[in-house]
Amino acid sequence: TTILGIESSCDETAAALVTGDRTILAQRIASQDEAHRPYGGVVPEIAARAHAERLAPLIEATLADAGMTLDQVDAIAATAGPGLIGGVMVGLVTAKALAMATGKPLIAINHLEGHALSPRLADGALEYPYLLLLVSGGHCQILLVEGVGKFRRLATTIDDALGEAFDKSAKLLGLGYPGGPAMERLALAGDAKKVPLPRPLKGSDEPHFSFAGLKSAVMRAKQSGQYSDADIAASFQQAAIDCLIDRARRALAAAGPVNALVVAGGVAANKAIRGALEALAAEHALDFVAPPLALCTDNAAMIAWAGVERFALGQSDPLDVAARPRWPLDPEADAVRGAGV
Ligand code: ATP
Ligand code: MG
Ligand code: FE
Repeated sequence: TTILGIESSCDETAAALVTGDRTILAQRIASQDEAHRPYGGVVPEIAARAHAERLAPLIEATLADAGMTLDQVDAIAATAGPGLIGGVMVGLVTAKALAMATGKPLIAINHLEGHALSPRLADGALEYPYLLLLVSGGHCQILLVEGVGKFRRLATTIDDALGEAFDKSAKLLGLGYPGGPAMERLALAGDAKKVPLPRPLKGSDEPHFSFAGLKSAVMRAKQSGQYSDADIAASFQQAAIDCLIDRARRALAAAGPVNALVVAGGVAANKAIRGALEALAAEHALDFVAPPLALCTDNAAMIAWAGVERFALGQSDPLDVAARPRWPLDPEADAVRGAGV
């Protein structure tokens, strides 16, 4: 099988061709970082327009890279949510048009499922169930992944996502957008023990995350003028890691037997975080799986791969499938805890 994947839920316009045996035949990503940088964050209207301008030629170029035509593709998979709805609609409507024109099946993909299954694209030996830390710009969750579409959410954030905390803290230090990679780079030059920062919810009986207080503490540290930016960045990153490890350790105890500890989402590109999680997995005699850096941040290969997994189960969607700004992976947990929690 070969699946065309389309991603447009945030600020990367992306297309990819991925096969059932985990080969990425071609993938292209057009980042909009430059367009949003003056505003210090993603502007939805600018993002939607950019997706609309770029997506069609990007798909053509991706097919050309692989030396393929649409006729040779088995299905078209596109992100149908969650995300900025204007961008999601551009990708989904494009996928619908291609499906209609070619008669190929349409597969509507949850962007978070794309992140959640991306480790299986990277590692053919990774079997369900696995414990997943999904850490991205909009989400910070611990999920028991039992299969395609089968997620049990064990923890989520009660305020900011981890990527959001990186981005906001970076902004406070004047590092610009996107902040995560810049914070990681600056942290290399700093001393993580210099700035006393809180570890919100560390050791709590509740399973959840909280990062708003950490971000506020970064602001106070910066305003105090007592610390170098590098020391603040290093101390912030260490505080974030301590919270992540504490919550992951708790979740491992609660989850029952799993095949691996897995991390995915944009923040999974952070090498210090990967290292700390790898050590935690070793402590529990578990395999540790993290996708290569390029598969952590938004991309279309992960959407195509989720399409591969759904196609293999005979799943597809009708052409009137809706774009969804909100689309929790575990609707039951989401209903119990309410929006965001
Ligand atoms: P979501 O997937 O929740 O809808 P998103 O698609 O905007 O959100 P991703 O592209 O998955 O998010 O991840 C982007 C986030 O990852 C940003 O917050 C960015 O700062 C963060 N990030 C990227 N690289 C790093 C890094 N090296 N260290 C820390 N954070 C990083
Ligand atoms: Mg981006
Ligand atoms: Fe994402």
